[in-house]
Amino acid sequence: LTALLWLRRDLRRGDHPALLAARDAGGDEGIAVLFVVDPGLWERGGPVRRAWLTASLEAAKEDFDGRLVIRHGDPAKVVPQVAAEIEAGSVHVTREVTPAGQRRDKKVQEALEDKEIDWVETGTPYAVGPGLVRNGSGDPYKVYTPFHRAWHDHGWPEPAAYPRSLDLVEVDSHQKALDMLDKAFREDDLPTMPEAGEKAALQRWRDFRDEALDDYDGDRDKPAIDGTSRLSAYLKIGAIHPRTILADLADKRSQGAQTFEQEIAWREFYADVLFQNPRSAWEDLRDALPGMDYDEPDDAIEAWKDGRTGFPVVDAGMRQLREVGWMHNRVRMITASFLTKDLHVWWPTGARWFLDRLVDGDIASNNHGWQWVAGTGTDASPYFRVFNPITQGEKFDPTGDYVRRWVPELRHLSGKSAHQPWNHDDGYAEGYPERIVDHAEERKEALSRYESARR
Ligand code: FAD
Repeated sequence: LTALLWLRRDLRRGDHPALLAARDAGGDEGIAVLFVVDPGLWERGGPVRRAWLTASLEAAKEDFDGRLVIRHGDPAKVVPQVAAEIEAGSVHVTREVTPAGQRRDKKVQEALEDKEIDWVETGTPYAVGPGLVRNGSGDPYKVYTPFHRAWHDHGWPEPAAYPRSLDLVEVDSHQKALDMLDKAFREDDLPTMPEAGEKAALQRWRDFRDEALDDYDGDRDKPAIDGTSRLSAYLKIGAIHPRTILADLADKRSQGAQTFEQEIAWREFYADVLFQNPRSAWEDLRDALPGMDYDEPDDAIEAWKDGRTGFPVVDAGMRQLREVGWMHNRVRMITASFLTKDLHVWWPTGARWFLDRLVDGDIASNNHGWQWVAGTGTDASPYFRVFNPITQGEKFDPTGDYVRRWVPELRHLSGKSAHQPWNHDDGYAEGYPERIVDHAEERKEALSRYESARR
């Protein structure tokens, strides 16, 4: 019997335990490698994620010698059907841990059971599978720092070997699926995306490791500098596994390397939080603010999405997001704080927009990142933390370069002055919009709402 590998968030050939398991199961009969375009997910994903997925699939196809099978439809029907076509004895996957992914997999597994085909899960998209890091009483961690310590102590396996030769069975793709992918590249308003695929991911990691890792600790909070790895979109789609990165970090002692490992651990922490609290995807994780009063100011939300709030660093971030499908972490925090605390909007509105526009859009990291800022997430008492968008901009972008790069209407202002156009006679000469709110007033308003919600 052959074996079928069904790819989802693991679009790569190297360091892929489920692929090795499939290869061993298929033996001389060989394996087929399948991706299913699930119409429901495809629609919900939005144009940016569709385009990034498509680019990543094109690259994966090359990695699998042109023999990646792409089908369209409900996976509970398509996966058993392809498995039957190739006479597979087993279907292999990397275990999915998100609530929606687990629900889907259960249905597929049941459909396979009816046909007496085995379902085999090997590994997860994380170094340590969500649910495995527990405290002394066997409970999951609710706070990052002790999680990180226990996660590190738990450890992870070495990267899996690269399968040089694979016996890949030839199977037809669905023309409909190929047409859908083709269309994904032609949608309007797509950002400029990085090169997709496993080779690009490994190259990016090596370049960052050799050139920027040691300075990461000092540079990671400066949005004007290319000081972070930009690996998030590759990690999201599984073009690289975090284990590959962690293995390289093991012998590095610099502060930069240590801090970088901690950031990888944030990704693992949020996946664990979502695994333990499936409802926290779209609801407040902690019921910290019962009865909190939120607004839905349509015009202001549109101004925020378009980068026209009149607050330079907020607008720079929102335009960076629109243009390249990525935003610097510091600026994600500032723009999220602006929406939730200056405009008093409930965090899911912002989380939805980010997921629609980010190439790295990930429900665990994004939605818990939003909750962290909003004061409903894993941080214990952050409701009083209201970022000042002006001082944050001046502190983390002291040269003003980040703002000028993304906001052309402020390019005539030199240095730090790009952060305060209102202090310059010609500040608005190039058409930059006036501030849509008074930060000092909205800060007071946010704090008073938070105080009454907590009571
Ligand atoms: P680096 O600084 O090079 O970090 C390396 C890797 O560590 C990242 O690729 C990422 O996988 C992980 N990482 C770093 N910081 C975090 C963090 N705070 N939380 C979780 N993982 C982290 N990250 C996403 O991958 N997808 C998202 O949809 C996402 N949405 C976010 C929304 C908000 C409001 C906030 C505050 C943060 C969000 N993050 C998200 C986390 C972080 O901003 C990005 O991971 C990071 O900016 C990606 O750039 P990088 O790869 O250059 O990061």
